[in-house]
Amino acid sequence: MLPIHAAVVVAGGGAAGFMAAICAAEAGLGDIALLEATTEPLHKVLISGGGRCNVTHACWDPRALVGHYPRGGQALRGPFSRFAPGDTVAWFADHGLELVEEPDGRLFPRSNRSESVAATLRRAALQAGVQLHTGVSLQRAAAAAAGGFDLLVRGGGAIRADRLVLATGSHPSGRQLAAALGHGLVAPVPSLFTLALAGDPLLELAGVVMDPVELALHLPQEPQAARAGQPFRQRGPVLITHWGLSGPATLRLTAFAARALKASGYRGELRLDWSGGLSQQDLEGLFAQAKRDQAKRQLANWRPWPALSRRLWLALLQRHGVDPQQRWADLAKRHQQLLVSALRDTRLVITGRGPFGEEFVTAGGIPLGEVNLATMESRQQPGLYLVGELLDVDGVTGGFNFQHCWSSGWLAGQALAT
Ligand SMILES: Cc1cc2nc3c(=O)[nH]c(=O)nc-3n(C[C@H](O)[C@H](O)[C@H](O)COP(=O)(O)OP(=O)(O)OC[C@H]3O[C@@H](n4cnc5c(N)ncnc54)[C@H](O)[C@@H]3O)c2cc1C
Repeated sequence: MLPIHAAVVVAGGGAAGFMAAICAAEAGLGDIALLEATTEPLHKVLISGGGRCNVTHACWDPRALVGHYPRGGQALRGPFSRFAPGDTVAWFADHGLELVEEPDGRLFPRSNRSESVAATLRRAALQAGVQLHTGVSLQRAAAAAAGGFDLLVRGGGAIRADRLVLATGSHPSGRQLAAALGHGLVAPVPSLFTLALAGDPLLELAGVVMDPVELALHLPQEPQAARAGQPFRQRGPVLITHWGLSGPATLRLTAFAARALKASGYRGELRLDWSGGLSQQDLEGLFAQAKRDQAKRQLANWRPWPALSRRLWLALLQRHGVDPQQRWADLAKRHQQLLVSALRDTRLVITGRGPFGEEFVTAGGIPLGEVNLATMESRQQPGLYLVGELLDVDGVTGGFNFQHCWSSGWLAGQALAT
């Protein structure tokens, strides 16, 4: 049964909504109703991280942490100074869930199952007295003249709420509700996707991973654009797939370039340095060493450096008309120059947006300037709080998106209870 009145209504039973409701209730506030439109609260938590839920990242310093948020960035220093990944680890430990760090810094539940994270949040909400209502979608919200909010849910049903938290993720209904309460919107665009390279011979190398690769993305831009002439750059692991490029460095690149890529119609040129940033002199040194020490070996059987994928090396030889059977001693200067240049600067034409990686988030949402980032309370409408992916904040892969949900949810919860 829906209540007629609630001290707080939280709309959206995802990571941010649960965190806000639990924290407010644990801090002593009663009468909290958490409305979830679907019958499966915490759905994204359950499907996240390939079913393992990458809860946060071992990046303990807020100054470094903000560098992982293409949207949000420096503005998040305040919120992260109050609730950072270390606090997330402690919060879950206090609620009976141990998080374990992987070598790349990502933190997962020890069980390796996202269900443990969802179960922890459900249990904490129940124990704190949060009333969860599933299959209840908030449809309209209006500020009442006497203070508080008059809420209508889909299919009928009205609630008077003293305060309202919008935690509706990337769902359009949350943006409409926020707009009706006076908020603007930074237009949503996809982030964290792969790049398509239709027809490129490189696609035959599907499955090849190179690490590190330096990527430089050149997009056609208006001459007066802020970044005109400046490429987006990333460095790290790249995976070649059947349709194009994926892997952490590609996803990071598309996250930081999400808006510019959208503006260019997902067309542009990608320049890859497979050597990860070796200078021309370094590479020529490696070639000279191979010619000297491996003179009798065929090119196919010896690569300039061991971490260079054999399949990639063979493809580059073929692409530049160099016979893989010839001996290193016989490699002509002209061919060596071609290969050095290809290893440092392979140019690919991006033909579109590829499928999403494991994680998918929306860039855009309610502008951060419209929210008090100490409390997550709206600057447009007193008593309204906005948390999670609904805001114009998104992080790269690695647990950063959930971290923002935990931080913003925690801040709202504390503010509601005071
Ligand atoms: C496949 C996938 C894997 C991911 N893996 C990771 C990961 O491992 N680590 C990481 O950090 N991030 C990951 N992300 C991103 C992360 O899931 C999101 O950033 C996060 O879930 C956002 O949380 P939220 O609470 O803001 O919104 P959501 O999780 O989207 O929750 C919003 C909730 O509100 C409900 N709702 C919407 N409108 C209404 C309404 N009008 N009334 C009532 N309820 C409403 C929705 O049904 C939904 O349940 C992943 C995303 C995807 C898609």
